[in-house]
Amino acid sequence: MTTTDPAAPLVRFAPSPTGYLHLGNARPALLNALFARARGGRFLLRLDDTDRERSTQEFADAVETDLAWLGIVPDLRARQSDRAAIHDAAAERLKAAGRLYPCYETQEELERRRRRQLGRGQPPIYDRAALNLTEAERAALEAEGRKPHWRFKLEPRTVTWTDLVRGEAQVDCASLSDPVLIRADGTYLYTLPSVVDDADLRITHVIRGEDHVTNTGVQVQIFEALGYPVPVFGHHNLLTTADGEGLSKRLGHLSLRGLREAGYEPAAVRSLAVLTGSAEAVRAVASLDELAALVDLDHISRAPAKFDPHELDGLNARLIHAMPVEEVAERLGTLGVPDDVAEPFWLAVRANLAKVAEAGDWWRVVTGPVTPVITDPAFIATAAELLPAEPWDAETWKTWTGAVKARTGAKGKALFMPLRLALTGLEHGPDLAGLLPLIGRARVLERLTGGAEA
Ligand code: GLU
Repeated sequence: MTTTDPAAPLVRFAPSPTGYLHLGNARPALLNALFARARGGRFLLRLDDTDRERSTQEFADAVETDLAWLGIVPDLRARQSDRAAIHDAAAERLKAAGRLYPCYETQEELERRRRRQLGRGQPPIYDRAALNLTEAERAALEAEGRKPHWRFKLEPRTVTWTDLVRGEAQVDCASLSDPVLIRADGTYLYTLPSVVDDADLRITHVIRGEDHVTNTGVQVQIFEALGYPVPVFGHHNLLTTADGEGLSKRLGHLSLRGLREAGYEPAAVRSLAVLTGSAEAVRAVASLDELAALVDLDHISRAPAKFDPHELDGLNARLIHAMPVEEVAERLGTLGVPDDVAEPFWLAVRANLAKVAEAGDWWRVVTGPVTPVITDPAFIATAAELLPAEPWDAETWKTWTGAVKARTGAKGKALFMPLRLALTGLEHGPDLAGLLPLIGRARVLERLTGGAEA
């Protein structure tokens, strides 16, 4: 049986299953997961699916798949749509306490009022006219067929908290409109269910993007109005493109599934998503543990986290160049590389790869057929004559080229390039010392002598 330290943090990542997760979502997902990991805590995946029309099971499944790809397996799971009764009970309590009040204005009425306020140089905050409605006026509006939406009555004060990223933080709730918590059709906006679930599920730390700072001011008042303990908050900066543009679900090419399909390693995506906009240089960090040791929330900068998607290519290549064969064995199998040569093959080619799938191209160079390029037939004929007998190993290339050099006097590029072109048909590629034993004597001889390859 595993026991969990009751003091250990419980964090949550709360996406709406209304689209695919993208690189920008990977940041809060990972910052939460790493925070929990570094402290022996737990990670809850909460699906914020109160928008029933736009939430789908397909997107919910994709969230799980994408998190698993990043290396995040939730310890706990919850879905807001299963928790309506708990949300309703909290809403009733707020109504009974006079903190949630019905309003009947239409969008047009609100817009007209807003323009009038702006015209007078006043801040466009909701004027709380609905609070002054008498019973009779309400009844008359309802008789007209109007359905109320419900606003939370903010206390006109400044809410302060110590933010894990931003330090002392505050929101002046006196300058905000009373937020609508329940729409006229009876559905909840995100604000209330999030508070109720965070409290009911005993979330200790709410780590999310800084686009939620104002929400936090409001939500702290809701926690307090409901008599719940207020969790610790941390608001991280948001990933933006180099020109400061935010990432949205519309940027399909930066969806996690898109990046996966494009052959990026999860560790490359993790490194970019977490280290950008932190005190640490963006570099290739292979494991979640290393990343957790490297980045904590107080290392996150307050400036926007600007990144260039092309950085992924460099990170990916660097990860692959140092990747142990165990991590790719399965993928090499699907590329047709037999298990017994997976390791020497991988060690021979990995330094030449930007994506793992490219190993398949080099495996075809090993097994052939290739079209040899013979630039100097006499030289190649001499090289064929000097080809050592098998068994071959990592030294064979050196032995062979040493003999060719001694016989022909060729050295450097003049020695190696004709051999590379004859053996691979290509000017560039992995170190031939590693590939030669894999190609094997029979195929090498065929390539050198222009014989047909099986
Ligand atoms: N569903 C909300 C969002 O995706 C969750 C925000 C939060 O973490 O509280 O923005």
